[in-house]
Amino acid sequence: MKLSYKTYNLPFTHPFTISKGTKTHQPTFIVELEYFGVKGYGEAPAISYYNIPVEKMMEDLEAKRTLVEKFSFSDPERYWHYLHHLFPQNNFLVCALDMAGWDLFGKMRRKQLHELWKLDTAKAPLTDFTIGIDTVDIMVKKMQEKPWPVYKIKVGTENDIELVASLRQHTDAVFRVDANAGWTLDQALHKIPVLKELGVEFVEQPLAKDDWEGMKVLFEKSSLPLFADEACVVEADVAKCQHHFHGINIKLTKCSGITPARRMIKQARELGMQVMVGCMNESSIGTAAIAQLAPLLDHVDMDGPLLLSEDIARGVDFDNGRIVYTSGAGLGIEFSGFNDAI
Ligand code: MG
Repeated sequence: MKLSYKTYNLPFTHPFTISKGTKTHQPTFIVELEYFGVKGYGEAPAISYYNIPVEKMMEDLEAKRTLVEKFSFSDPERYWHYLHHLFPQNNFLVCALDMAGWDLFGKMRRKQLHELWKLDTAKAPLTDFTIGIDTVDIMVKKMQEKPWPVYKIKVGTENDIELVASLRQHTDAVFRVDANAGWTLDQALHKIPVLKELGVEFVEQPLAKDDWEGMKVLFEKSSLPLFADEACVVEADVAKCQHHFHGINIKLTKCSGITPARRMIKQARELGMQVMVGCMNESSIGTAAIAQLAPLLDHVDMDGPLLLSEDIARGVDFDNGRIVYTSGAGLGIEFSGFNDAI
């Protein structure tokens, strides 16, 4: 296989704020794997609070480039195992390569991945559109700029309730909230019943990621379903979430790709939990990978291309929240970003 990679710094339409901080751009790492003339692409956005900048992905990849390239590719799951042992400390890099392996695999078989997996795309849930933390006026303005059937509202401040109540005055859309580990147990116990009254459908990561005792109490008392995000990063975390959360939010980048994400979905189902896949502000490349899994999910948050003001590929469109699939093979993307690569 021949390996190439590129980095991009994708600008957000609006500065994006969650309870962990604000950012104006999303750095992202794109890989290309070429095998007998077929090219597959994968993506991993860099996230500062996980301490894996794009430079770290480049450095780790260069250190083992020949090993990555000499693999005799037959199927993506075998490739993931190889990569997982090659880069045990860099799930983000493994995700980008795993995704490229799946894109390649689908293209070699001339089928989109959801077709290979025999999934019914009509079952894919609507994607939400995320409203980052801001003043109420700006949050209302962002919502009105983007009429949408499902909004994910970032919370985790003193005035969460006032904020959601203000937004509710402007729309009947479904709301879900993401506290990004920003509440204490007492705050969550107080806020959740009020949010339910305001038409919120579920809460993502209410408490600190390691507050399992708090989650056990909240799980028993919460009138809204609770989804793990920061508390459910890799496969080993899924079982821990049972009886603490009603569902899990899987991120491809954090769990190390499509291959482990499929296993996590299966395991969560076996444990009676709901499943969503979330994004980390990927371009249309990583977002198209989420679209392939969407028919397996209860909820999906794949609005990266909607929040970014520049995209680098085509491959996934939305019609009022509904995913519009392309006809291409693999991830179903069109990307020419490596045409000028050396
Ligand atoms: Mg989240």
